[in-house]
Amino acid sequence: MLAAQRAATSAGLDYYFPDGASFLPGIPSPEEFLGYPIGSFHTRHDQIVAYMKELAARSDRATYQEIGVTYELRPMPVLTVTTLSNHANLEEIRSRHLAASEPDGQVDEAADLPVIVHLGYGVHGNETSSSEAAMLTAYWLVAGTGEVEEYLREGVFFVEPNLNPDGRDRHTWWANLNRAEPLVADPLDREHNEVWPGGRTNHYWFDLNRDWLPLVNPESRARIDWHQSWRPNVVTDFHEMGASSTYFFEPSEPVGSWNPLLPEEIYTDITMRFADDWAEALDSLGSLYFTKEVYDNSYPGYGSTYPNFLGGLGLVFEQASARGHIQESTSHGILTFPFAIRNHVRTGLATVRVAVEERQALRAYQHDFFVSALDEAASDPVDGWIFGDPADVSLNRDFIDLLLRHGIEVYEADEAREVGAHTFEPGSAWVVPAEQPQYRLARSIFERTETFPDSVFYDASTWTVSLAYGMPDGEILGGGLPLGPAVTAVPGRTVPSVPRSSIAYLLDWRDSRAPRALQALQARGVRAEVSTRPFTAATVAGAVSLGRGAISVPVVAQTLDADALHAAVVEVSQEVGIPISAAASAYSVAGQDLGSRGFLPVHAPRVLMPVGEGLSGYEAGQIWHLLDQRVGMPVTKVDVSDVGRIDWSRYDVLVLVSGNLSFLEGPRLDALRGWIRGGGTLVALRGAAAWAARNDLTPNVGAPSVGRAP
Ligand SMILES: [Zn+2]
Repeated sequence: MLAAQRAATSAGLDYYFPDGASFLPGIPSPEEFLGYPIGSFHTRHDQIVAYMKELAARSDRATYQEIGVTYELRPMPVLTVTTLSNHANLEEIRSRHLAASEPDGQVDEAADLPVIVHLGYGVHGNETSSSEAAMLTAYWLVAGTGEVEEYLREGVFFVEPNLNPDGRDRHTWWANLNRAEPLVADPLDREHNEVWPGGRTNHYWFDLNRDWLPLVNPESRARIDWHQSWRPNVVTDFHEMGASSTYFFEPSEPVGSWNPLLPEEIYTDITMRFADDWAEALDSLGSLYFTKEVYDNSYPGYGSTYPNFLGGLGLVFEQASARGHIQESTSHGILTFPFAIRNHVRTGLATVRVAVEERQALRAYQHDFFVSALDEAASDPVDGWIFGDPADVSLNRDFIDLLLRHGIEVYEADEAREVGAHTFEPGSAWVVPAEQPQYRLARSIFERTETFPDSVFYDASTWTVSLAYGMPDGEILGGGLPLGPAVTAVPGRTVPSVPRSSIAYLLDWRDSRAPRALQALQARGVRAEVSTRPFTAATVAGAVSLGRGAISVPVVAQTLDADALHAAVVEVSQEVGIPISAAASAYSVAGQDLGSRGFLPVHAPRVLMPVGEGLSGYEAGQIWHLLDQRVGMPVTKVDVSDVGRIDWSRYDVLVLVSGNLSFLEGPRLDALRGWIRGGGTLVALRGAAAWAARNDLTPNVGAPSVGRAP
């Protein structure tokens, strides 16, 4: 125990690096820069950033850049490490590298190019050995002598030390504030049990390691822009797992965990070229590990799988976590933070070495990947996919944005097509041909996979993105593709200025930005009504058909005068980017008139959502993100420990997510029932819906016979 504690506080460069590693003078090691040995504290993101900048300032091998920014405005750093001469030609290297990967690229003429390696760390912010290993690995690349100099001639290395800055800082703060002297290894200690929601997720409690395909978060969008712009040959993804485990590296489980759209060669050949070296690196330390078990390699939204869809090799590494500085563990006795960090350093170093050794094979594989994509597309009975929602311009734009970010070719549809239940019309429909280099990614986005060779998954088992968007789409099977002009940017949307009306302003609810516009109007004190039926209004610009749920803003009975109301409507229309019509008459062209009883008042909801210990952070975060980022609606997140202080009269809507809801039982349940009877709206997700039914809050719906227990 004492020996372990000494290791935890005194691990120096000799501990982390193999015998014989040597470093240039004049470049500070992480310990020299930070003022403490790596592993003795958890390093904050701003310190990691500062160290990356210091390396770039002290060495002409390294340049520093920021590829994006998080919700909490933390930068997303990438340190580029290679020789001075590669740095001078970096843009040429990039364009030749990309050209060589294309199906018509000349891979033979790219033999002199360095291999492109992206070393990524810590997408889960509480898996903290990753980013500490990143600093040591960056130091080795920037200051290392001998073999490192050859690697830099033959490779361009991007070190992204922290893929989840907001999440990491939550855990780092927790681990340091509870750190004791002497260190406490008891798993029960507060240091090892972080406060809800923990550091795994980002600001809105999303798992960023599921977001590489849907790109909900700015971290992911910046990341995919970067990876698309480089198509790295090798991408690492360093994680941690439970303290009682050992270490995992690929190959992953062969049955059912391989993505069936990828060439099998990635698993049977390319990965295997590295595996012996990882084994050797850990064997030399006596570190135990496992392979071919547990971890899936199938969902393109994983950070270790998405790079495979760019013809690279994505690699997951999992280290047993000390989740703190030292912790008792059944497999390790005392598991120390430095021990965890060192394993990640060593597999990282081995990855660098093998990537350089195998650079020609990796480049040839990447080229073959895109050639075989075209071949497979040619033999696919699906010639392409057509999509588009004629009533939702915002959704179309968002979906096209997603496709373009993934490097997928999109064309305007130039003739009408009926596919399944949908009729797609030019002007509101687009076509994605199967025959394109990103065939596999496009197919992943549209294909409905309903049967699987193995029904046991690590987690994600389906990812049809068009369904997630609610986007009408269909497969084109024969008959040629109705290909109009290529779409190279998200179609612009000119929103005409709203003419003045003395009757009412009308907003179509079928546009997915309509809730944001309504919220913005109500925040300006505007009174609104909602239509319970579709109708065709007489507007200043002619007849406009509106769906059920359309919003009417009558000019009468507002607290704002007619001028101020018009100004507010114009402002919201431009700010949200959505057209708003000005009624010319209350007498509709078809359907109900604007004074009909089919319009009901709609009030801005005051939303309350319990969050905290025992509740699902993923579900709560998803709702929080939706209301904040998509709707612009404030939501009060009440901690479960403060539920006793709720004044129910202040809220109209209660959102409950899965988890332990016992804090609402007993006398509080009566208060909740009374609030619902008085007109309060309960929105219950998943397990919370079953809880609501069991507790007699849904008189029309019985308790489910199966369902997640609270
Ligand atoms: Zn992880």
